[in-house]
Amino acid sequence: MPLINQLLTSPELTLPLPPEQAEAFAADLGRAANLVVYPRSIVARGGVLFFLGRRDTTKHLGVVHAGGALAGEFTGQTRDVTLNESTLMLTLCLTDHANALALRRALPFTAPVTLGLSKSVGCGDRLGLATPGHVRAVQKGGMTPIFAQQSIREMTRTQRTPDQVMDDATWGVFQEGWREGFGADADHLKTTEDVDRCVAAGFVFFTVDPGDHVDNAADADDLGTLRQKVEDLPWEDMEASSEDLPRLYLDREFDLGDFAITFDQETLLRAAAKYGRAVAHTRRLYHHLAGQMGDRPFELEMSVDETDTPTTIPEHYFVASELKRLGVRWVSLAPRYIGRFEKGVDYIGDLTAFEADFAQHAAIARALGPYKLSLHSGSDKFSIYPICARVAGDLVHLKTAGTSYLEALRAMAGIDPALFREILAFAFERYDEDRATYHVSADPAKVPAPDQLADGELASVLDRFDGREMLHVTFGSVLTTQDTEGSYRYRDRLLAALEADEEAHYAALEAHFDRHIAPFS
Ligand code: ZN
Repeated sequence: MPLINQLLTSPELTLPLPPEQAEAFAADLGRAANLVVYPRSIVARGGVLFFLGRRDTTKHLGVVHAGGALAGEFTGQTRDVTLNESTLMLTLCLTDHANALALRRALPFTAPVTLGLSKSVGCGDRLGLATPGHVRAVQKGGMTPIFAQQSIREMTRTQRTPDQVMDDATWGVFQEGWREGFGADADHLKTTEDVDRCVAAGFVFFTVDPGDHVDNAADADDLGTLRQKVEDLPWEDMEASSEDLPRLYLDREFDLGDFAITFDQETLLRAAAKYGRAVAHTRRLYHHLAGQMGDRPFELEMSVDETDTPTTIPEHYFVASELKRLGVRWVSLAPRYIGRFEKGVDYIGDLTAFEADFAQHAAIARALGPYKLSLHSGSDKFSIYPICARVAGDLVHLKTAGTSYLEALRAMAGIDPALFREILAFAFERYDEDRATYHVSADPAKVPAPDQLADGELASVLDRFDGREMLHVTFGSVLTTQDTEGSYRYRDRLLAALEADEEAHYAALEAHFDRHIAPFS
């Protein structure tokens, strides 16, 4: 029986075709559809064959069928085609939101799932083109991926919506034929409105960031001030009163295997004053989220990584123990670790001290969960990966967001050197302002000026601390600056360059993520 008939008669999802057969069949489909077809995208289910192809730089979903309900879910232009001597219908569809929704229903592997406690890596993608590169790295094994991941702040800065973030991951997964499941992380949610937008878009992993409710001053307050602050906590939301605290925490020893945690009066007051409101806010968002999700499975992460002062071991214990007492369920938690986690560069701090501290955080995560320790701003922290892998085992979530953009710039430096020079020059202009909300310390004086570099040297800016940070935090300005209404100064040309040489972009991403995943495998 010709291949097309074999595929179309399968009621279940068809297995991936062997590479050579996929290439040959992609060529057949490409001729019929006048597209360059991605061989790994080819899949059939319930009498309908699906594939992704491109014409110039525009991608189309192809739906081949002989009628049938499933095909009717997709919107596009339908005509007759002859494939393997059979006359069938081909509907060519735009890769828009409605068709992404229909695809997630028709091919469940293109929709996100919860990941549980599996060791995982978050692959944020600010441009919406990176998922195929991410797939190529994670398919070598070792970590479960999150492909749709963006914070509300970065969605605002890149002018993307939660739907777009989700759809871009869906199309990328489809293009590469990744069927092993992926997560979708609505990152750094601060309000119930943030939660609602991401629930509506189909996210299944929610990172709640109560950082605005962390009282960093509690680290230095005197006892009188701490007592007052604890008295003033929103106790109603915490289903307790300040009088309950001593009973819950004082004169007790919390055994964590290698060590035990005890609270004295002052440690307890400091922990409660610093994190009490954050706990209450997390509980509020969790309940709101659970109500919105109803029967649908979801996962929660709590993150306080973007606060000013490190989370001490007793403070982590206090936060986790309070969340647990309040019935919150979570899969991962991001304390603010000691040392500095600057964007896109290695860990800055004492590795021995980090290991000792991280081991105690991990002991709490095992005892009060188990849950994963989440490493935010996790890209390029090469010196601590072996420590984290050794100490936490599988209970790790590595979260990267902005460095995929840097790898896009690396690819772009080879494709369009003039544009790279323009973007670098613009980063010099923007850095002072754009760095304000990020943890970075780059000195622009140490970054070579664009005209000092030969074409072949441009990408080297991305391998140096100062250039890397400078380009990292200016992404929002680069992606959204318009010269006139609707005319982007860089964005469209950057996307066009990457679309013109997708393989260069994917190769840069794959190499970058290989280095992140290998230490954990
Ligand atoms: Zn973070």
